[in-house]
Amino acid sequence: MADIQQLKDIVTQVRRDIVRQVHAVNSGHPGGSLGCAEFIVTLYNEIMDHNPDFSMDGVNEDLFFLSNGHISPVYYSVLARAGYFPVEELNTFRKLNTRLQGHPTTHEGLPGIRIASGSLGQGMSVAIGAALAKKLNNDDKTVFSLHGDGELQEGQIWEAAMYASANHVDNLIATIDVNGQQIDGSTDAVLSLGDLKNKFEAFGWEVLTIEKGNDIEAVVNGVREAISLSRKRKPICILLHTEMGNGVDFMMGSHKWHGVAPNDEQLESALAQNPETLGDY
Ligand SMILES: [Mg+2]
Repeated sequence: MADIQQLKDIVTQVRRDIVRQVHAVNSGHPGGSLGCAEFIVTLYNEIMDHNPDFSMDGVNEDLFFLSNGHISPVYYSVLARAGYFPVEELNTFRKLNTRLQGHPTTHEGLPGIRIASGSLGQGMSVAIGAALAKKLNNDDKTVFSLHGDGELQEGQIWEAAMYASANHVDNLIATIDVNGQQIDGSTDAVLSLGDLKNKFEAFGWEVLTIEKGNDIEAVVNGVREAISLSRKRKPICILLHTEMGNGVDFMMGSHKWHGVAPNDEQLESALAQNPETLGDY
């Protein structure tokens, strides 16, 4: 088990990895990646029982499915830092024939990746299938998924949400990155999501909120609480409140860094705010 300072050090290095990957190829999605760094670092370094000696089936392991696949920079960094593949491979992000495609795919065989994602709305359905398979196999591990809040505008999410509660998929913890932003503006301006807690509860889910989704202790405690609420015949939803671009001051508080790379000067500023902790790739 990692202590809080160790987790913070990983988060800081992951932020560096995110902005360096995106800067190197002048493309990719830094905003949501930075906002979800604490959550994904917590899952892989504190919560999940998982094996970097990767097997696609993940039998007797906790599983994580990234549904909002465009935040691949944070996912690749966390997987590499957890030992799934060499950290130097982060150098190949978004290059031709790389295993680190802009949106994760299984085709390239990158350890840690179990689904292609990027087409939004699909990951919850996959996570439900995996959770049901675990039940059939008497595998008592947990399935986690992460979704953008803008992603909830996809209808498939709500079909999946209805299915999960009707079938008592209570070994699933689906987390929504509630940053209030999506590619074209605030979620309120594009298509308001309304009251998400009431919506998921109306669909038969147990819902808990993590107000400070960029506070590592709050995330650890919130996810642990979610696990304690599982196995009670209801799927679990975490509403994780984050800030897009968290940890890089000029990227925070706006949708404008959803899918824009920093220039050389901006990269230097971002790195200065996040000193090297584990060694750059
Ligand atoms: Mg969002």
